Amino acid sequence: MIVDTRACASEFRTARRTEALLIRRDKRTGVLSVELHAHSALSYDGRDPIELILEQAEAVGLDAIAVTDHDEIDASLEAADRASAYGLVGIPAMEISSKAGHILGFGLEEAVPPGLSYETTLAEIHDQGGLAVIPHPFQESRHGVMARISRDELAMGDAIEVYNSRLLTGRANRQAERYAASRNLPMTAGSDAHISEMVGQAVTRVDADERSVDAILDAIAAGRTSVEGKRTPWRISFRQAAGGVSRRVRNSVMGLFQ
Ligand SMILES: [Zn+2]
Ligand SMILES: [Zn+2]
Repeated sequence: MIVDTRACASEFRTARRTEALLIRRDKRTGVLSVELHAHSALSYDGRDPIELILEQAEAVGLDAIAVTDHDEIDASLEAADRASAYGLVGIPAMEISSKAGHILGFGLEEAVPPGLSYETTLAEIHDQGGLAVIPHPFQESRHGVMARISRDELAMGDAIEVYNSRLLTGRANRQAERYAASRNLPMTAGSDAHISEMVGQAVTRVDADERSVDAILDAIAAGRTSVEGKRTPWRISFRQAAGGVSRRVRNSVMGLFQ
């Protein structure tokens, strides 16, 4: 396995500057830069309050952000309310644990309960007028749905997340991109950030008619997107995973890796 352990703070800062420059250039063309997958402290494995997430989103020049907590929506609704103070469009959203695996719902007003079937979860999102995006479908170890559904069923999603920054190899992302291309399905990216510093690590460029939630979701549904992303540095993916585990078993292994 090839592991990139060169990641360090200065490298992140350089990356951030590069991304901010790219984002500014895009603003002139009217294409919006959107973060569609970020977890707050309301997720069992997330760390940061929405203030830090919104600050980071603004700092890296994003136009819009969706906070997508696991099976919770309150922080996302609050972030959506407060986003405009940061110059952002806030998209209310969540990451739902269906029986088949994770499903992102956008444009929701209330939480979709976990534990429903794949089809019912999609129907609940659509009943609210929301958009269903299937995140990391081929990352079966991270609750990607392909462990439990067919390739035809995957196409029931409104879009496929074809770039997820949290990965050890790019294989599952490449599979997702090939799949979405073969079915002519809209594509999104997501940093899947569990700490605010990673917000903006993956960006979906959305050719929306205006800066609003509805216009962004309509453009995604119509496939007017392109994706761009960088992988979460391996050490951070590992710490995030270890952080979640340690909180559950109250046995920190972090000291070994710092
Ligand atoms: Zn997930
Ligand atoms: Zn996630």
